[in-house]
Amino acid sequence: MATIITIANQKGGVAKTTSTRHLAYFLDLAGCKTLVIDNDHQANLTQYFGLDPIECEEAHGSMYHVITGAKTIRDVMVQVNERVFVVPAALSLAEAGARLIHETDVNGVLKAALREVAGEFDVILIDCGPNLERLLINALVASQWVIVPVKTDSLSISGIPALVSTITKVRASMNPTLQLLGVLPTIYHPGRQADEKALARLRDEAKAAGISVFDPIPAATNYDKAADLQKPVFEVFPETPGREEYELLAQLIKVL
Ligand code: ADP
Ligand code: MG
Repeated sequence: MATIITIANQKGGVAKTTSTRHLAYFLDLAGCKTLVIDNDHQANLTQYFGLDPIECEEAHGSMYHVITGAKTIRDVMVQVNERVFVVPAALSLAEAGARLIHETDVNGVLKAALREVAGEFDVILIDCGPNLERLLINALVASQWVIVPVKTDSLSISGIPALVSTITKVRASMNPTLQLLGVLPTIYHPGRQADEKALARLRDEAKAAGISVFDPIPAATNYDKAADLQKPVFEVFPETPGREEYELLAQLIKVL
């Protein structure tokens, strides 16, 4: 059965989508058959894979149809290379959470939908939108692990307890197997005093709470350029910092 991992943070702009894209890249290189789910109506991840959200939705459907029960994961997933498949999102997904209130198990819809394909993949990554709402809860209920990317500044770090509290609640009431794999500091400027202080504080607080902190992903403008080109950054700018860190995390995921 696949290792299922949610990539979550209720803040936007902390590199959730960028991290999901590059973990999928290194998992692919490591030979893992990977399903990537775009669980955010902004559809940034879908576009990062070179897919057009509206075209995908019109052709085969999207996450909206999965969440509302109109289609299966298999119906809507798109193969983007030999080992990577994407469940695309579109703006319609913004309406899906509200449609769920008619379900008897409002928080277990994604888990149930994933059941039919979980045996076919090594890893399933779920990239979430910037909120603590229904679609995030569905992702957490479906997952064994959570990775929390956090921008390495003190304001972003202050948001972690709210997410940890959500994870704790989901574990207690809906998914006892859910575990926080760790916090991934991102957009880190080495040598910048504020970032170094924020990272040190993050490490201290995480240690006290028994939470792992991965090696930080350095900041580099190449990440923006690669997103515009809809390509993994290491494919277009091989020297971009962050390669070792993302690759190491993918290796860790592979052996979970
Ligand atoms: P989220 O999914 O959390 O909203 P994104 O992955 O979309 O965040 O990233 C937000 C912005 O930060 C994007 O413009 C992205 O290109 C940029 N970014 C991501 N990682 C880095 C990095 N290591 N250095 C610089 N910019 C980054
Ligand atoms: Mg995103």
